[in-house]
Amino acid sequence: MFDRRKFIASGIAAGAATGLAPGMAFAAERSDVVIIGAGLSGLNAASILKEQGYKVVVLDANNRIGGRVQTVDTADGKIDVGASQIGRGYARVLDTCQKLGLKLIPEDRDLLTFGNHFRDTWVDNKTWESNPLNKTVGEERLIPPMMMGSTLVGKYNPLKEVDEWLDPKYADYDISLRELMRRKGHSDAAIDLAQYSAPGISIDATSVLRMWQEDTRGKIDRKLAATTAEGHKDHPFGEANDRNMIDGLAMISNIEGGCQKLPLGMAAWLGDVVRLNKRVARIDMTNRAGTVRCTDGTEYSARFIVSAIPFTMLRDVAITGPGGLYQRKAIASMPYANTARLYMTVEKPFWKDDGLPASWSSDGPIGMFWGIDNHTGEGRHRAMVVMVGQVAAAMASRDRPEAEAFVMAELARLRPASKGLIRLDTYKDWARDPLQRGCGFSLAPGHVNAYARRMNDPWAVLHFAGEHTRRLDIGMESAMESGERAAIEIVGRG
Ligand SMILES: Cc1cc2nc3c(=O)[nH]c(=O)nc-3n(C[C@H](O)[C@H](O)[C@H](O)COP(=O)(O)OP(=O)(O)OC[C@H]3O[C@@H](n4cnc5c(N)ncnc54)[C@H](O)[C@@H]3O)c2cc1C
Repeated sequence: MFDRRKFIASGIAAGAATGLAPGMAFAAERSDVVIIGAGLSGLNAASILKEQGYKVVVLDANNRIGGRVQTVDTADGKIDVGASQIGRGYARVLDTCQKLGLKLIPEDRDLLTFGNHFRDTWVDNKTWESNPLNKTVGEERLIPPMMMGSTLVGKYNPLKEVDEWLDPKYADYDISLRELMRRKGHSDAAIDLAQYSAPGISIDATSVLRMWQEDTRGKIDRKLAATTAEGHKDHPFGEANDRNMIDGLAMISNIEGGCQKLPLGMAAWLGDVVRLNKRVARIDMTNRAGTVRCTDGTEYSARFIVSAIPFTMLRDVAITGPGGLYQRKAIASMPYANTARLYMTVEKPFWKDDGLPASWSSDGPIGMFWGIDNHTGEGRHRAMVVMVGQVAAAMASRDRPEAEAFVMAELARLRPASKGLIRLDTYKDWARDPLQRGCGFSLAPGHVNAYARRMNDPWAVLHFAGEHTRRLDIGMESAMESGERAAIEIVGRG
């Protein structure tokens, strides 16, 4: 595997004369590499290239640094509405935090006991097998209703290595979860239940290979975490954090003061080459150089370009240049999953008054409620309504005030004891973010075979970074990994 430290230390020579293609605009600012996107992937690519002596420029359409790492100020303090959890296996993220002097603290988002609200009824997992609402058959009857999809994705996953999902020997599994469950002989009732916890967009819209990519990485992570805590897997999300410190780290850490300090620190190190409010609209390339044009009329010419923006956004950028068959397919058709979350403060634990679960998954229109442990059991708690998949898609069709009012009314209906005790701090729907249009990449059935194996290949002088190009890691670490890979590709070309 690539050794980043050796690579940085090797000091490979770089930054030869900028070779612009004939006819390219003179007014353009020249550099060796133009990087589009100031999220973690773009910033990491820029940092490595700068360390190697390349002249870089980073362009971001937003008026802030960080992309899907975003910390917002609310009346109840700072809240990370994007990434926040840092695992013990996040080598690049941890290394960068250390270099920037950022303080890591054990994550404080343990979820309280989970229940299931299904067909407008509170359901107990322990008695689910004999519940009359359980229409599944045989061994399926033992799987809790809100765990069917995630359990079966794990059960049928044959992959041992994180990048094996791309191995052509698994090409036959580039199908939907519905199709896989049919092939395995599952009942219609089980297929119906699978939709509530299947990873990705839905049991029809996401390739099983993409689900297995995530599942395999998760399994390896759990092994690496060397956890001593007892994970309780009665719901598909958020096990208790293990605060036993190993090498000074809990199983999951947060950055004190908010996760956005990480990209802000990286951008500060890069200095004035990071330009905000620069929305890229056009890329023109030859095999030797390229020009990037922004909507404000500014132009940037370079020997290489790195796209570190989601394909939901890159598909709005006009690209000319030789080749690019698989890349064009990927850019045009890669689907994105969504997460919409309402972050809340609960004045006192209403679940003690009504005796119902503090957190729950439901088949209803608001998805999940996560009650977050404050480790005293009394007083103020934080909470989140978390909508994914079809639930998030349905909510995105309402305008924001209407969506907020709907969620609050639904909470009051489900839990009358919560009335007057829940305060909404902030709401973030990543599909509504005009510079994201989703929370993370997905692949539809057939997409792995159609383009995923080749979509990361450089296209003329355009290289690709971003979590959607990941091969080994997850989350923020995958963004860092992808930026590193793009930088290495460019250094390799001289
Ligand atoms: C709700 C949520 C929770 C998450 N939780 C975690 C977590 O706890 N732990 C974890 O490890 N990961 C988590 N992640 C994942 C993590 O945030 C991402 O994997 C990572 O931040 C993606 O980085 P990126 O550089 O690939 O893309 P981004 O951060 O999306 O950066 C892309 C940048 O491109 C810019 N851009 C878009 N269009 C243009 C254009 N035309 N011109 C110029 N710039 C443009 C955008 O403004 C943006 O800044 C979470 C993500 C979400 C959404």
